[in-house]
Amino acid sequence: MRDKIVAGNWKMNLTFEQALQLANDVNTWVAENKTDAKVIIAPSSIYLQAIQETVDEQFVQVASQDVSNAEKGAYTGDISAEQLDSIGINTAIVGHSERREYQQETDEVIAKKLEQLFAKDITPIFCVGEKLEEREADKHFEVVKTQILNALNPQQVENLSKLVIAYEPVWAIGTGVTASPAQAQEIHAYIRTVLKDAYGEKIAEETSILYGGSVNAQNAKEIFSQPDIDGGLVGGASLKYDDFVQIIAACK
Ligand code: PEP
Repeated sequence: MRDKIVAGNWKMNLTFEQALQLANDVNTWVAENKTDAKVIIAPSSIYLQAIQETVDEQFVQVASQDVSNAEKGAYTGDISAEQLDSIGINTAIVGHSERREYQQETDEVIAKKLEQLFAKDITPIFCVGEKLEEREADKHFEVVKTQILNALNPQQVENLSKLVIAYEPVWAIGTGVTASPAQAQEIHAYIRTVLKDAYGEKIAEETSILYGGSVNAQNAKEIFSQPDIDGGLVGGASLKYDDFVQIIAACK
């Protein structure tokens, strides 16, 4: 059985007080409601430890939004996998399209980040997805396949049991435009065949693949009901308590 997951990517939003309040509220809701989905929140790194101490990990897990591709040393501003591990963080988003675009992260850099996470037994939520012009040129399958194969070395098969993939079409992130459930299902099923061909049937069947891109309280249920969609990576709507808990409730 694959894990159902709803992960909130808070990006560079919320003051410390607001972040603690939201984390607390989500934790209380999950504690009081039976949920099928594992719930994860990814606050800004300066809040990680405080939020980790605020929530109960049996209800809400805390993830980093990124990790360094280097192990340690003179990398000002970076946070290593070892440092995340040392404060008990066991999940990290990697390869988000905003980092690919604004920090020029290449597949090669992302491959190194994944290696760092695997070395510390931290679960990556590895983001892939095509840009609008790539979708319009019918290149989305090829783009996503290349992103996966470039970043995941087949020799890491033993680590891949920890992997979570998030398919996030760039044209749907923060735009209010969502991939239709059929479009999302089509590419999620395709990602599973890419995983099967490269890393074997077991990895393909057991890897949770999340959809991300303008998921909201209204569209979540239909998206999550697709057979190859195991939950969502949620940006904007994860900052609004009412919307986020409805999205969690929709993930069955
Ligand atoms: C994201 O940034 O991962 C994301 C899916 O954002 P949004 O839900 O706001 O489109």
